[in-house]
Amino acid sequence: MSQPLSGKHALITGGGTGIGAATAKWLAAQGAQVTLVGRRMEPLREVATGIGKQAFATTADVTDASALETAFGASRERFGRHDILVNNAGIARGGPFLRQTDEDWSAIFATNLFSIVTTTKLALPGMLEAGWGRVVNVASIAGLRGSPYTTAYTASKHALVGMTRSLALEVWKKGVTVNAVCPGYVDTPMTDQTVANIQKTTGRSEAEARAEIEKLGPRGRMLTSEEVASAIGWLCLEDQGAISGATVPVGGDGF
Ligand code: NDP
Repeated sequence: MSQPLSGKHALITGGGTGIGAATAKWLAAQGAQVTLVGRRMEPLREVATGIGKQAFATTADVTDASALETAFGASRERFGRHDILVNNAGIARGGPFLRQTDEDWSAIFATNLFSIVTTTKLALPGMLEAGWGRVVNVASIAGLRGSPYTTAYTASKHALVGMTRSLALEVWKKGVTVNAVCPGYVDTPMTDQTVANIQKTTGRSEAEARAEIEKLGPRGRMLTSEEVASAIGWLCLEDQGAISGATVPVGGDGF
């Protein structure tokens, strides 16, 4: 039976864990073939094995342009051109502005912004040629508003939102949409790390640190990866061709 994304090939960066893994499963369940990219093969393979023969896993550090070129080439050989690109790989390093080093800023921007310039340059030509494509950038609610102790991360996500809005205007007439999803806190390994940092700097217990984060969301809980994945997946459907340049908040933060 034909499914909404049958015949489409999606590449998801950071597809081995958290939001990326949930997105790969969502897109595959709608019929897409999926390529998962990340640095560690083990989590990628686990997700790919769970999905089955519709999935292909390949390692690359997204900050390494030539590794990305190789991974995208292998992925194209496996499932053909990329119809959908989910730029999800990202890192967060918090802390007071005066303690964030130049290396923190460089690593955050290399991963959260410049890698997306590279992946998008690799996938976009095929989409333009086909006259159909979906690019979804996983930004954050931190791409839409400021918060203390996250200046580099927040700046990188604001930049990603700016890139999304401008590129969307360039390519929409050519059948390619470019959108960003902007979640609040999600229960993933990245947030586990934030919890660990709060514990370390404040001496709070894990439960107290998690409660602190949960309080920040309007519903008093963290989001699940699946809730974010379904927003990402929805933007990839055929029917959403008129939505581009959008920043979709996930988590009811009122944007
Ligand atoms: P995870 O830490 O589970 O996911 C991040 C993924 O990115 C991992 O699979 C990691 O795989 C991959 N990754 C990180 N750096 C690189 C790199 N240099 N090269 C290749 N892959 C890399 O956390 P989330 O699922 O939460 O994060 C996914 C996205 O969601 C991020 O962009 C994050 O900023 C965003 N987000 C998260 C929120 C949250 O509360 N968790 C809220 C809002 C947005 P590996 O280590 O194997 O490379």
